[in-house]
Amino acid sequence: MTISLLFHNLVPDMKRMTIAQTLVIRGTGIHRGGDIEIVLYPSDQGIVFVKDGQSIPAIPENVVDTQLNTTIGLSGVRISTIEHLMSAFYGLGITDCTIEVRGDEIPVIDGSALPYVMHIQQAGLKKLGLEISPVVITDTIRAELRDSWVEVTPGSFSVSYEIDFDAQAIGFQRLIFDGSHYIRDIAPARTFGLLKDVEAMRSMGLAMGGGLHNAVVVDGKDVLNPEGLRFADEFVRHKMLDILGDLWILGAPIMGRIRAFKANHMLHVECVKKIDKLLGSQG
Ligand SMILES: [Zn+2]
Repeated sequence: MTISLLFHNLVPDMKRMTIAQTLVIRGTGIHRGGDIEIVLYPSDQGIVFVKDGQSIPAIPENVVDTQLNTTIGLSGVRISTIEHLMSAFYGLGITDCTIEVRGDEIPVIDGSALPYVMHIQQAGLKKLGLEISPVVITDTIRAELRDSWVEVTPGSFSVSYEIDFDAQAIGFQRLIFDGSHYIRDIAPARTFGLLKDVEAMRSMGLAMGGGLHNAVVVDGKDVLNPEGLRFADEFVRHKMLDILGDLWILGAPIMGRIRAFKANHMLHVECVKKIDKLLGSQG
């Protein structure tokens, strides 16, 4: 069996996809605060963010900051917190969309990817007549820092994510995602933080627009949100949401086995950049 036949069996008839019509979404930025409006346009040029007239394609080399969020930038223009929108794009199979951003970051809405999924589903999806070439992993790729790591190995697609927090409300959680039921199982999981970290983040100018309406906040064994959790293991589900968004910066589905342990945007993106470099060197 040839390699190309193998792809075809694993990714049957995958076409590139955009949105069916222009869509406006408004909300607050979790890090800088303030009102933001983004406009999503149908496209066939990949995923491209636009701010102040500067186009910034969502490609690995344009990721310029991964501290507590994923920020892309080009020619001095930066857009932060793209990961939840990118994750919604992953979940819906959207490979092509132009996103005009009137603000410094993508709105957080409720801290999950679900509002984006619902807005986009309302606008509708449109298949482009272009095949997707999956990103096939042929070598082991690893990024690590202290006891945290992400590893990508050859194989069919799956993502295993483990987290381990001292805070009892989170503790150790493990989730394996095989690509099915993203909208039901992953998209609703909200971003989260520890109460003790919120002050430190604010002193760095981050989390200024964050609150219990758009993040789960944990203090030891307690979840401070009066409504509680959406899933008993919402925390690891959100980490899964984040890594799927970061991996989507590659622009195509990965054919490979991904494992992450206590990871973060920095390690996710380091792997993405290593994969991209390897693809580039393979020509
Ligand atoms: Zn997140």
